[in-house]
Amino acid sequence: MRRISMFGATGSIGESTFDLLMRQGGAAAFHTVALTGGRNVARLAEMARALRAEVAVTAYDDCLPDLRTALAGSGIAAIAGPQALLEAADRPADWIMSAIVGAAGLAPGFHALRHGTTLALANKESLVTAGPLLMAEAARHGARILPVDSEHSAIFQALVGEDIAAVERIVLTASGGALRDWPLDRLARATVAEALAHPNWAMGQRITIDSASMFNKALEVIETREYFGVAPDQIEVIIHPESLIHSMVGYRDGAMMAHLGAADMRHAIGYALNWPERADLPVARLDFAALGQLTFRAPDEARYPALRLAREVMATRGLAGAAFNAAKEIALDHFIGGGIGFADMAAVVDATLAALSHRNSLGNAPMGLEDVLAMDHLARQEAGIAARAIGTRRAG
Ligand code: NAD
Ligand code: MG
Repeated sequence: MRRISMFGATGSIGESTFDLLMRQGGAAAFHTVALTGGRNVARLAEMARALRAEVAVTAYDDCLPDLRTALAGSGIAAIAGPQALLEAADRPADWIMSAIVGAAGLAPGFHALRHGTTLALANKESLVTAGPLLMAEAARHGARILPVDSEHSAIFQALVGEDIAAVERIVLTASGGALRDWPLDRLARATVAEALAHPNWAMGQRITIDSASMFNKALEVIETREYFGVAPDQIEVIIHPESLIHSMVGYRDGAMMAHLGAADMRHAIGYALNWPERADLPVARLDFAALGQLTFRAPDEARYPALRLAREVMATRGLAGAAFNAAKEIALDHFIGGGIGFADMAAVVDATLAALSHRNSLGNAPMGLEDVLAMDHLARQEAGIAARAIGTRRAG
């Protein structure tokens, strides 16, 4: 039986993965090693019972008593805290879903790769913060990383049977998020609730807001560079409001391979779960006559400073991705908390990168995970200072 684990089981990607695992036979078809979650221990315990997991892990120590109670009599072990997440990642498994949100997903993924596992990677922050290290770690241990982000799954599928050297360009599609048609002055004053009204995709709160600001696409541009090894100027972004083409690969002979499908993450997750085979998936089929047309437009750089920042990060490389992601996470915290406005998020990231590039060598290649985590920590502090300064100015 295939041994599987899932990090971030209780999130949006986690729930979709759980749905597919149950449809494909559940505990009768998979041996579940570990499931991890955060504060929603009731749901975590329910999933662990359904899949008869060996161990359930909550990221938070204070949630452990509740998790223990919820698992009473099941024989499933309950553990808690960041160290417990690593212990869970060290339990050998054949397939591991990495679906924690944010840089917190980095270390568990690293640990999992050491055991030569196949890592289904939804946690794009891992590649943004530590792409070269992560890819090298996978190569060293004969482990495979399969992309779960819909764009990267699309590119991966468009590359089957092709030579990466024949690739001329990669076109990442972007829905534009909830605020794509708003005038610029109104965009700056958008609220959290407004940024959460995504037109096409149902996702976790953080990535939904990142879609509206295009920080999600900025992360994905960097993710593309790190995963597929193409040059930054080979990566384009196009706004495609229907979200039906998930991305495209252009070859040197001018041919474009596009991947189309319903906006349902179970497609990309199911592809990674069943790779290299394809299995029946419960996703809607496209009716082209009913759709009528697909539309595209170029992203406006003034609207989306995140895309410009991603280009700067790729030019700098080294630790710039770690700083960028950390600053983005803090800026998002402050926006959600009401301290800063929607447009201020890019200003916080910009200010953080500027401050760090004056004092630190952002371009230095990290020697190990510790260097990445140290820069992550530093950038969070710096971004906090920038966010508070901007927030104070706004209030005053
Ligand atoms: P989510 O917020 O719905 O779920 C996040 C999961 O991580 C939860 O299980 C939560 O308990 C856990 N978690 C949160 N903080 C943690 C911490 N500090 N330590 C340990 N666990 C923690 O997020 P999501 O939308 O499912 O996204 C998960 C990842 O997948 C992100 O990296 C996101 O960018 C990526 N992704 C998501 C989608 C989508 O459709 N939701 C699409 C593409 C990529
Ligand atoms: Mg995506």
